[in-house]
Amino acid sequence: MSQRCFVALGANLGKPVVTVNAAIAALRELPGVSFVAASSLFRTAPVGLKHQPDFINAVVEMIAVSPAPIFLAQLFAIEERFGRQRSVKNAPRTLDLDLLLYGDQLSDDPRLTLPHPRLHERAFVLAPLAELAPQLTIPGHGCVGDLLLRCADQAVEKLVPQSV
Ligand code: AMP
Repeated sequence: MSQRCFVALGANLGKPVVTVNAAIAALRELPGVSFVAASSLFRTAPVGLKHQPDFINAVVEMIAVSPAPIFLAQLFAIEERFGRQRSVKNAPRTLDLDLLLYGDQLSDDPRLTLPHPRLHERAFVLAPLAELAPQLTIPGHGCVGDLLLRCADQAVEKLVPQSV
């Protein structure tokens, strides 16, 4: 059965705007999933390790037919294609992809936790997600729009697309 999914993108090394746009294009090409919509790009302050460049973040909505673990493996393959190195938690990264929600599936498996465990408290995820689905309920936490209001202390800036 197909599932409504949301994927978070984040990058803060190299040319993060170029990387995030290219990663959105890569998500559009994935087999077993169909692309629905992409949010705007947002510039956000780093969480955790402070002394690193700002991040560029976005969220993409997709409809998946592939089971969640297969979809996550496809996301890891895209991260690797963009040269992601896994080092310490919250370290700078060329590209980070997180599976935020896979339908209404719940999982506490550390390899694939659903909903993503920190989604409800991070403005860098909630701001782009609120563009796509402000009324969406995060199981156990509430509505995306309300959760975003609770993160007002976290700096996020929506990027205006460059005109061509
Ligand atoms: P990170 O370095 O923050 O991208 O975390 C990656 C690790 O988190 C991997 O070992 C994943 O298996 C695990 N993980 C657990 N739940 C999720 C999820 N919903 N989306 C992406 N990675 C997840």
